Amino acid sequence: MRFADIIGHTDVINHLRATVHMQRISHSQLFAGKEGIGKLALALAYAQYISCTDRTPTDSCGKCASCNKFQKLIHPDLHFVFPVVKKGNLLPVSDSFISEWRQLLLQNYSFGFNKWLEVMGAENSQATIYTNESQEIIKKLSLKSFEAEYKIMIIYLPEKMNTVTANKLLKMIEEPPHKTLFLMVSVEADQVLGTILSRTQIVKIPQLDDQTIADKLQANWQLDTKLALSLAHSANGSYLKAVELLHATEDNKRNFEWFTRLMRLAYMALKDNSKIGDLMSWADEIAGIGREKQKNFLNYALYMLRENLVLNVAAAQGSEIVYLGPDELNFSKKFSEFINPKNIVGLDTELNKAFNDIERNGSARIVFLDMALRITRLIHIKTVKQT
Ligand SMILES: [Zn+2]
Repeated sequence: MRFADIIGHTDVINHLRATVHMQRISHSQLFAGKEGIGKLALALAYAQYISCTDRTPTDSCGKCASCNKFQKLIHPDLHFVFPVVKKGNLLPVSDSFISEWRQLLLQNYSFGFNKWLEVMGAENSQATIYTNESQEIIKKLSLKSFEAEYKIMIIYLPEKMNTVTANKLLKMIEEPPHKTLFLMVSVEADQVLGTILSRTQIVKIPQLDDQTIADKLQANWQLDTKLALSLAHSANGSYLKAVELLHATEDNKRNFEWFTRLMRLAYMALKDNSKIGDLMSWADEIAGIGREKQKNFLNYALYMLRENLVLNVAAAQGSEIVYLGPDELNFSKKFSEFINPKNIVGLDTELNKAFNDIERNGSARIVFLDMALRITRLIHIKTVKQT
């Protein structure tokens, strides 16, 4: 995670950079703010910036060995503490759930606590940072740093820490081991032990303003300004919420349905000629809607192809963020293996050509059928799957 990947928060980022430039990195900091605004992403980008061996005045390089490990969340000097549930014979500590944690974070850096509970399969159990965790914290921080200058411990929701653990943590904050940083990410900071708060620098993270959210939505989905602003407004400062709302809109659902149908038919049509008839019906149907909706669909299809390429190639390297809704993600888990560097340019060209032809008032039926037939060939072009 680089600062460049963060949505908004320019002032906070400037402040965090300055602490590094002036060598005034406070050893205990708490990022406080509401859910879904990118606090955890900020903590990670900050940690990566501090540890980068080739950082610029503005950002981490994203390429050095340290950045690579941070982007995969596997740097040996990066430690996570978060609430967990008691489950079977598992020791109730963060390390027992670390692979689920990494997977969730890599999929989406902005998630709510409920999502984390769902991923752990918490059902009705309470998630807490249990006493067992304090042993782990002491153990991890008593070691010398392996590779970086600092050992960095990111504590997600310190307000969920039980009192015994909180008091142990307090001792470590009072007498920190050499070159150790605690970055806490908190939604209800007033619930954190007062003695911890009084020894911690609080970094208030404001909610995102409507315009920032709307701009990002427009950049990612080519929405019209009115819809983007209305989603941003309803999302109340949370980009995550705005994306959820977008996925629930009727336009999005309909575009998703047309896209999946087109891709399935196009895939089958090369071997099964009877599907050509179905593709013609598909083109007829889409020819019957207005031009604005047709253009909106083509933009949506371009977005889906890009996200699937990211899923196939870049996400495997932990370097990009995917913002697909649940249905889209479910479909894309299988579909993404068909979108690769060898066919993306061709697919992109076809969709853009169709877009231009529709704008120039070409016959929609012919434009869409033509595009669909070309996709049947392109979709079968494969590369060796990257690992
Ligand atoms: Zn770097």
